[in-house]
Order: sequence, then C-alpha cells, then structure tokens
Amino acid sequence: MKNKIAYVGNEHTNFSGRKGTIPDTIVNHISQGSKESCIDWFTSVKNTQSSAHFLVCKNGDIYQFVKIEDMAWSNGLYLEDIKKAKSLKVKNRNINPNRYTISIEHEGLYESTEGELTEKQLNSSICLHKHIIDYVYNKYKKIISVDRKNIIGHYEIDPIRKPYCPGEKFPFKKIIKKIKEERFFTDIESHWAKKDIVYLAERKIMKGYPDNSFRPEKYITRGEIANILCEIIKG
Ligand SMILES: [Zn+2]
Repeated sequence: MKNKIAYVGNEHTNFSGRKGTIPDTIVNHISQGSKESCIDWFTSVKNTQSSAHFLVCKNGDIYQFVKIEDMAWSNGLYLEDIKKAKSLKVKNRNINPNRYTISIEHEGLYESTEGELTEKQLNSSICLHKHIIDYVYNKYKKIISVDRKNIIGHYEIDPIRKPYCPGEKFPFKKIIKKIKEERFFTDIESHWAKKDIVYLAERKIMKGYPDNSFRPEKYITRGEIANILCEIIKG
C-alpha cells in the first residue's frame, strides 16, 4: 500500500479477541475531534470503553490502534438493539457487531463537515479500504464485496445513539466507485466475459496489466498461462 500506516496502539488501547469470527464488514466513523485528541483517547489509561482499528487524518496520515485480527470497541450494541440496526447484515446476524467489523475513524467534527473528507483524507481512506480488503483476503481467504452492504457507516449499526456518524456527506459512493475502478480494469465494461473476468480477478486467479487494463481479446503467452495455473494449484 502506498500510504504508510503508523501503529500507535499501546497497552491501554481497548481490544478483545474475535472468538473465531472472520472480519468482513468495514465501518466508517467521524472522530468528533482532532487527530491529537483521537490518538490521546485511544491510548489513554482513562479510556475503558472505546477504540477503533484505524484513524484517517485530514492531512492523509493513517494511524492504527488495533490489529485487524482483534476486535476494536467501536460498534458495540446491546443484544436487544441489534434488531434496530439499519444494516440488514447487522440485523440478521444476532451477534455483537464488533466481532465481525473493522472500524475506520475519520478526523472531523460533524458540526462543521457533516462527514465530508478533505481530498487527501479521501485518497487515504480509499487506500486503506483496499488495504483492509486485501488483508482480509490474504489472511482469511474471505472476499469483502465492494458495496454498501459491506462498507457501511456507524449510523447503520446504531441509528439511535449514532445517527450522525460519519455524516450525510460521507463519500461512500466515491470510495466504492474508486476501489472498483482501480480493482477491475478499464476495458471490460461492455465485454461479454466481464462477469467471469471479475470473478477470477476477485479470487486473484487472473490479474490485469499495470495500466489497469485487462485486454480481454489479447492472446495469452505460455508464461501467462503458467502463472494462472500456478495461482490455481497453489490456491
Ligand atoms: Zn462512530
């Protein structure tokens, strides 16, 4: 990943084990404070109630507090409130959402931004979403589909206590569009085999070219077929 992630979680940072649950949902938040106050709070001995995996700052810097393998304390719900969630995925899965979510805080104050990100912040957040998706695939062989079912906001988990997190102007659409564009090739939109190409690309069996094209009509070389066979055999 282009942007470096600075790991700043310490012995006071709250987290717990996922008890075998695979993380498969990315949840976006607004930090309601500055980068400094967020880092202070998530590493403070006084904080015994909350944390997040990542923080994306207005200047594009990315910080990490909790490993993806562990659960952060950011999307917790009382069991009786799970049915009030807006996200069907959360509603239908009757367990603490912290168990299967990965949280990203975005530096900002709802009162002044309504969730809008700076350009650098948006680019870093897109990179971080891609990093998380790749990390989860490499670690668990789990594909997080790039859509609004799997990339959600805190308000969809907890519409009662967190209706403004991360805010109406949070750029879900832009993030999803950009990840898809970068992931899935510039020249397959109207190709008859698009579905199959995406299927194989999502499973990393076939890749595109460095310019993000797939060149679906190009002949394949012996080298390329050897590479594809190896990807299949090695899984
Ligand atoms: Zn939140």
